[in-house]
Amino acid sequence: MHKDMLADFLLKGTSLLKEEDPELERLLVQEHQRQLNTLTLVAASSIAHPSIFACLGSSIGNLTTEGYPARRFHGGCEVADEIERLAIERAKVAFGACYANVQPHSGTSANQIVIGSLLKPGERIMGLGLNSGGHLSHGSRASLTGQWFDVVEYHVNEESLLDYDEVWRLACQTRPKLIVAGASAYPRSIDFARFRAIADEVGAYLLADVSHIAGLVVAGEHQSPINEAHFTTTSTYKQLYGPRGGLILMGRDSEQLSSDGRSTLAERLQKATFPFFQGTPSLNVIAAKARALEMVVSPKFKLLTYHVVENARALAGELQARGYDVLTGGTDNHMVILNIASNGLTGIIAERALEECGIVVNKNRIPGDTRSALITSGLRLGTNSVAMRGMGVKEMRMCAELVDRVLSSISVRNERQYILPEDVKLEVREKVEELCSSFAIPGYEE
Ligand SMILES: *Cc1c(COP(=O)(O)O)cnc(C)c1O
Repeated sequence: MHKDMLADFLLKGTSLLKEEDPELERLLVQEHQRQLNTLTLVAASSIAHPSIFACLGSSIGNLTTEGYPARRFHGGCEVADEIERLAIERAKVAFGACYANVQPHSGTSANQIVIGSLLKPGERIMGLGLNSGGHLSHGSRASLTGQWFDVVEYHVNEESLLDYDEVWRLACQTRPKLIVAGASAYPRSIDFARFRAIADEVGAYLLADVSHIAGLVVAGEHQSPINEAHFTTTSTYKQLYGPRGGLILMGRDSEQLSSDGRSTLAERLQKATFPFFQGTPSLNVIAAKARALEMVVSPKFKLLTYHVVENARALAGELQARGYDVLTGGTDNHMVILNIASNGLTGIIAERALEECGIVVNKNRIPGDTRSALITSGLRLGTNSVAMRGMGVKEMRMCAELVDRVLSSISVRNERQYILPEDVKLEVREKVEELCSSFAIPGYEE
């Protein structure tokens, strides 16, 4: 075995791609370039380390198997078993969990697996409404969870904060079998212990979905739900800076007997992941998860999460100082949510105008929103990517200034159409490029 086998393999792959499929290769290069030169303030994304992509590009992706380490339905799994065990062990260490399943193909799948492992179609779940910041997979009508289960929605209050009294009242009234705590657009801390007290009072299971805040949880910058919730799910590509995929974790309740009176919660979950919901696991993705889970326990990562939160606070403060309507008046995590309708704009217009200038954010519906999900009255910003590039509070001031320069220069025609002066576009684009070249993505440049 020669020593650079993996590197040579990846190199061979890229040169063959260039030779045999220049059309696709050109697009991939273009995307890589876009990432280098764009100010990405998308709350639901991050930047994975090049070694994550080395794992994804490894030949272990060829391996077909089913089942779990030492209980496979195919041969040839000696190495795969070790890799999956490593990922499981690292997930347990990172989150302080007693049980981890690293096979879910996504955060959405992880939620479907947990809910589907315990509930029959038609049984009741409770989740945060989409406009209040919940995720589609928490019971939205547009998703399987909303159509196969009887959903009770809870909401945020007038101040856009979670309304725990409402959660308690609705739970007592409707007796759900499972409560989902967690959000996709909520800039404040979530009190998982309080959710658990409510769940216990009504005899419900608690599922905590930490997709957006997983890094803060690992680093101890946010209350951990591992021993509060019966189940914790997360996607791995957001704040874990890993590959696209999901995880399911359990703490003190993993050995608890489930409602069938025979199997433990962990056993139910194991069977729900495979064979109930999924087939073959993706071993190259599991390897990449193992890599990400190793990186998040380092002191360097803890420092990164500190900067993520500090940057978000600075961004929120700067935008507020410039007159923007920052929901909840600030942030405890990586996320800043603006009511952009207060500026006479729509989410789609703000998103498009910023993108024309090299700043990527995403439109988001906000509490009480009357506009559709494709238009919206809100804008969601996040600092995972800029913090990874090494930007700090000073740069957040510049980001807020650039965002404001664009948004305050827009002339609105209707809900979707607008005019942005060419000189503003040129000016901001230039400054964005400057900022991006001063803060290169570690390991991404030539
Ligand atoms: C992003 C997100 C998910 C979905 O993750 P995917 O891996 O994209 O399916 C689930 N829950 C929450 C709260 C999320 O924000």
